[in-house]
Amino acid sequence: MKVLILNSGSSSIKYQFIETETRRVLAKGSVERIGMKGAILNHQRHDGDKVKITGEIVDHQAGVEYILAILLSHNHGVIKDRAEIEAVGHRVVHGGEKFTGSVLITDEVMDKVQECIELAPLHNPPNIKGIRACQRLLPGLPMVGVFDTAFHHAMPDYAYMYGLPHVLYKRHAIRRYGFHGTSHFYVSRRAAEVLGRPIEQVNMVTCHLGNGCSMAAVKGGVSVDTTMGFTPVEGLLMGTRCGDLDPAAVLYIMGQEELSLNEANAMLNKHSGLAGISGVSSDMREIEQAMQEGHTGAKLAFDIFCYRVKKYLGAYAVAMGGLDAIVFTGGIGENSDLVRASVTSGLEFLGVKLDPDLNAHRNSVERAIQAADSRVAVLVIPTNEELVIALDTARIAGER
Ligand code: AMP
Repeated sequence: MKVLILNSGSSSIKYQFIETETRRVLAKGSVERIGMKGAILNHQRHDGDKVKITGEIVDHQAGVEYILAILLSHNHGVIKDRAEIEAVGHRVVHGGEKFTGSVLITDEVMDKVQECIELAPLHNPPNIKGIRACQRLLPGLPMVGVFDTAFHHAMPDYAYMYGLPHVLYKRHAIRRYGFHGTSHFYVSRRAAEVLGRPIEQVNMVTCHLGNGCSMAAVKGGVSVDTTMGFTPVEGLLMGTRCGDLDPAAVLYIMGQEELSLNEANAMLNKHSGLAGISGVSSDMREIEQAMQEGHTGAKLAFDIFCYRVKKYLGAYAVAMGGLDAIVFTGGIGENSDLVRASVTSGLEFLGVKLDPDLNAHRNSVERAIQAADSRVAVLVIPTNEELVIALDTARIAGER
């Protein structure tokens, strides 16, 4: 089945057009700067043909129109007729407690996704805009929603509840949800394949380290804990997000600095993390460069980043009652040998030992990087969320 995969953000839409039987990406690209001056469409065809188009892209519907036009274009396209698009898969960030897996989008589903806006006011509205645009432009086509939160739905209550008054859970659904679920799902399945073991028998920790970072304890294929919580701010240090923090510190800072709710939100989400600590950058490449040049703020940011990952590795090994594999993915996890070496250093007592040569390659090729005498497998697995969305979309659209 040929499916269009859309990941709609507030001012961008990323897309891939995938043939699911062969798992081939026929075309991919992105529309950026929606609603701003100088909007751009970047498009790449499977044969390497690339094109960049600038134009007036006023809203998400116009963005989807551009995407459809380029897929159909004589010079850069891959289809001759819209009917060749058989289904559309949409990434949806927050499914709350309502969605435990991917679903066919119906009016009832849209109402529930709408209700989840309260939980993800920045992310769900653009996801909804992308879906509505496709419903208008491709009427009658099956559409599937794939949720970032769904893979974590089976976490036990003692892992997802906060120590807050229980009434807040009942009234406002305040609990830990976790995100990056599609990525943790993909790399955990792929890791089991690479190891040649049934996933039901493996305890693994998957580390998605990119601009946003999260880890999941995947026991027998099920996510039993994850570092992100009610929002994607909890847990690890990230590019610009602070991760774990004493909530009372936020209240204190708001008082001392006279911050509004919006300002405090921006502080936690946009001005913290690697960028806030180092004062250098949110980009791990620049942090590593500055650290190697002797910048102490960059070194501290790097150390905090790696220490948190290491700390959660220990926590999850204990939570699962053992550890068979660690998986690194995301821009940092796939590429940074320095981060992988730092995170796993001194963990011989857990049975973790890297092979420095296998770790050294700074490219995101799928491979094992543990030493021959390491009891725990350590894998680099480039993530592929779009493939998961495409396969779910084809399966659910095919079942109709
Ligand atoms: P993502 O959000 O998965 O695209 O990941 C973005 C992050 O990956 C940024 O912090 C980049 O600096 C980081 N990254 C990409 N390539 C490398 C590399 N070769 N070494 C270190 N970090 C990298």
